[in-house]
Amino acid sequence: MSRTESAAALVTALDVLDVRFPTSEHLDGSDAMNPEPDYSAAYVVLRTDAGDGLEGHALAFTTGRGNDAQAAAIATLAPHVVGRSVAEVCDDLGGFARSLVHDPQLRWLGPEKGAIHMATGAVVNAAWDLAAKRAGRPVWRFLAEMTPEQLVAQVDFRWLSDALTPEDALEILRRAEPGREERVARLLESGYPAYTTTPGWLGYSDEKLARLAREAVADGFTQIKLKVGADLADDVRRMRTARETVGPDIRIAVDANQRWDVGPAIEWMRALAPYDPYWIEEPTSPDDILGHAAVRRALRPIKVATGEHIANRVVFKQLLQAEAVDIVQIDSARVGGVNENIAILLLAAKFGVPVCPHAGGVGLCEMVQHLSMFDYVAVTGTVEDRVIEYVDHLHEHFVDPVRVTGGRYLAPSVPGLGAQMHPDSLKDYAFPDGPVWSGRV
Ligand SMILES: [Mg+2]
Repeated sequence: MSRTESAAALVTALDVLDVRFPTSEHLDGSDAMNPEPDYSAAYVVLRTDAGDGLEGHALAFTTGRGNDAQAAAIATLAPHVVGRSVAEVCDDLGGFARSLVHDPQLRWLGPEKGAIHMATGAVVNAAWDLAAKRAGRPVWRFLAEMTPEQLVAQVDFRWLSDALTPEDALEILRRAEPGREERVARLLESGYPAYTTTPGWLGYSDEKLARLAREAVADGFTQIKLKVGADLADDVRRMRTARETVGPDIRIAVDANQRWDVGPAIEWMRALAPYDPYWIEEPTSPDDILGHAAVRRALRPIKVATGEHIANRVVFKQLLQAEAVDIVQIDSARVGGVNENIAILLLAAKFGVPVCPHAGGVGLCEMVQHLSMFDYVAVTGTVEDRVIEYVDHLHEHFVDPVRVTGGRYLAPSVPGLGAQMHPDSLKDYAFPDGPVWSGRV
């Protein structure tokens, strides 16, 4: 292939697949608000005519029904992508991301929230996957090798400037420039800290909870998480079981998945307080900024965490401005992709609040690890009080699954964002006609 051919390459297709896993059959992933999730992916493939065999893969995560609506939302973005120059997209991912959120008709479905914004996130992430593959780099490293100016150009500062300006962002990134190489070396050597949610699903028996908690500690995890919020007496018993099993030195976070109003959140957590919960995650509605602030004030020193359902950077900004959270939980597939997550990482850095990403689901661990590793190398320069969530199911479907050992995510080395699934998995779990589903629905 000549240089000219490569430079003229175009995006030729945006394929969308509806892929679902029947996880509800085993209560894996069950919590107070999502008792029977079928973990699913509205899966995106960007294809080009560059002739280099590279494709951009990413996904929006859903919990089953509605995955078809998510896939349809992604398909509405195709006219903004198909026919564009591959080089133009990959060389200006900030401009590309901004161009997707400003469609004058589609923005009525948001703006920048819900299924249409998750669709933007999936397409933007697929473009990052493609760009990083072209550069021969895993995304965390691709990002960590950009200059502060190039990183600032990734961010849409619209509606942020009262809390974070491009000048602020530049200063944060320049401050972290010394020591980047050393931190890359440290990541390659010993990875990034993780915590596990595997013991704590609501559908599990106390025996299974204790066994999995014991195994987690033996595996090197220093933090586990329990789902709470269905029944107070059960939660007190489960929390006591977990605390007795792991001892005083292991952090136990709890996660209510938005179950409560503000008053009940405070009461419920006071009943769990004797067992020393480290954070309460999603105590109430993800849109209730002042509610989170009230819960935080009432429960101190128990930390308040949220983010997996936060629609966009503007809501994160307000949570930080209102001193409503102790922990920011970014999600790789909720907001508008890598670009908006860079904005959120910079906001958290500006306010001095640690980021502990939400993961699990399908492919969320694979994608979000890149953002935390980039944060460590080029934004905050620290892993103190920072952990990435880890859940140990469905990784076998990915071409480059996460590697977690000794309670740490090992740094990925394969180029791209990590969301690419095996062709057989895409075929077998295709909904509703793949072989796994054809007998079920
Ligand atoms: Mg959660």
